Amino acid sequence: MTVWVLGDQLDPSAAPLQSDDRVLMIEAYAFGDRLPYHPQKLALVFSAMRHFRDDLRDRGYEVTYLQAETFGEGLDRYFDAAPGDDLVVLDPPSHGAGERLRDLVSARGGSLTLVENDLFLTTPADFDDWAGDADSYRQEQWYRHARRETGVLMDGDDPVGGEWNYDDRNRETPPEGWTPPEAPRFDPDETTREVIAFVRERYPDAWGSPEPFVWPVTREEARQALSHFVEVRLPEFGPYQDAMVDGEWALCHSLLSAAINLGLLHPREAVAAVEEAYEAGDAPLNSVEGFVRQVLGWREFVRHVYRRSMPELAEANQLDQTEPLPEAYWTGETDMHCLSEAVGHVRDRGYAHHIERLMVLSNFALVYGVDPAELDRWFHLGFVDAFHWVTTPNVVAMGSFATDVLSSKPYASSGNYVNEMSDYCSSCPYAVSKTTGENACPFNALYWDFLKENEARLRGTGRMGLMYSHVDRKDDEEWDAIRARADEIRQMGRAGTL
Ligand code: FAD
Repeated sequence: MTVWVLGDQLDPSAAPLQSDDRVLMIEAYAFGDRLPYHPQKLALVFSAMRHFRDDLRDRGYEVTYLQAETFGEGLDRYFDAAPGDDLVVLDPPSHGAGERLRDLVSARGGSLTLVENDLFLTTPADFDDWAGDADSYRQEQWYRHARRETGVLMDGDDPVGGEWNYDDRNRETPPEGWTPPEAPRFDPDETTREVIAFVRERYPDAWGSPEPFVWPVTREEARQALSHFVEVRLPEFGPYQDAMVDGEWALCHSLLSAAINLGLLHPREAVAAVEEAYEAGDAPLNSVEGFVRQVLGWREFVRHVYRRSMPELAEANQLDQTEPLPEAYWTGETDMHCLSEAVGHVRDRGYAHHIERLMVLSNFALVYGVDPAELDRWFHLGFVDAFHWVTTPNVVAMGSFATDVLSSKPYASSGNYVNEMSDYCSSCPYAVSKTTGENACPFNALYWDFLKENEARLRGTGRMGLMYSHVDRKDDEEWDAIRARADEIRQMGRAGTL
């Protein structure tokens, strides 16, 4: 048997690597022509693959490393040299990928065995047992189940500290003058520099800046990134998890998603490290539980929801939203300070933290009326940590509320939320206090227009009652002005003058 290691399976402890010492890796390029992927995403994947190849060789594996336009072309060459070989691969989490790989291999006279992907904390069987035949799911219930099953942050049958969730202690805004600890930098070595140069040349249409490239590309660097997070950033991660600060792209977030999604770091290691910090008295419970909730709760949850909801999930559009993405998502040029900061972070680094993703980038697209599939493509090409299985449920279900498969209400808000959770609005030329008229914050009219337009679907769902009590207080004149302002903003969005 030969182990086929895919670019997002770079973990030497993966099960197939324990029993076979022959490895195939294919660095394929043509996928990167389908969308203008962020150059840092492309460089990260190729560099991490090359480092993993070298690491495996150092460990005594015999690695065939092929560079090809497509997997098909790589496999042609592989099977010319090793006719009829039997391959084994971790079942990829993206929809239908395993079957597609199996077909490619069998068309060339080989066989491919898919084995359970052990780069997650929970298994499909765990989730399916828990969910039964449900077709919509709630994270909080799953999270409690996963805590009980794994014993993470448990005190016997009870959650450590007595509560399952310290979300209400994750919403502070930092005091004026506060600056976050500096984010760790992993400066490109020779391999990464070569890859960056290759990516610049091979993908001239890539969207975003190839540098500064600071991402960990090896397991060792990913472990250092985890230690740095736990020692330096974790204590303030909890309180400021939902905050946004002008000029700060990372705050106290872990910046570990890309490393975890590539397999450089197992989520088990990340969870164990924060739990140990709590037990040693080095980090408060609201930080530790907040992080565990993201990794053991949300990350595992979206993976399983995706698995059970595809292919419908990718096409879902229950609110019939059809607007194209505003120009500002490509140029970053907009007077809206929050949006220009968030887009700038993505363009410069292939990263924005969770609240920028949810409450600025997807919230704005949602109330503006962007087609969820188009927004999904933008997130997919723009972020270093984007993979179909994780991006699509987050963008289409959580961000766009294109289906209620994982939440009962949309994450939609007016400019008030951004104003409460950030210092952006004080230096924005738009007035967050105004809904209509000149200089009114675009979020506001779009938000009310969104509620009104989608009333039939949203009134009475989830916890929307309070919002609709505000809707009911507005008279026809107000609605006319709101509609006019929302139309004007959409025109500005299309024209690139937002
Ligand atoms: P931290 O804030 O430090 O969180 C710790 C870890 O928790 C992350 O590294 C990640 O592994 C995990 N995590 C937290 N929330 C989620 C979640 N909702 N889904 C999956 N994992 C989660 N995450 C991706 O990995 N890839 C994506 O393409 C992606 N797209 C997103 C798009 C939208 C619209 C939204 C709202 C969220 C998206 N997320 C995505 C989830 C989350 O925003 C990122 O995982 C997180 O911001 C990554 O930064 P971090 O490592 O600093 O995370």
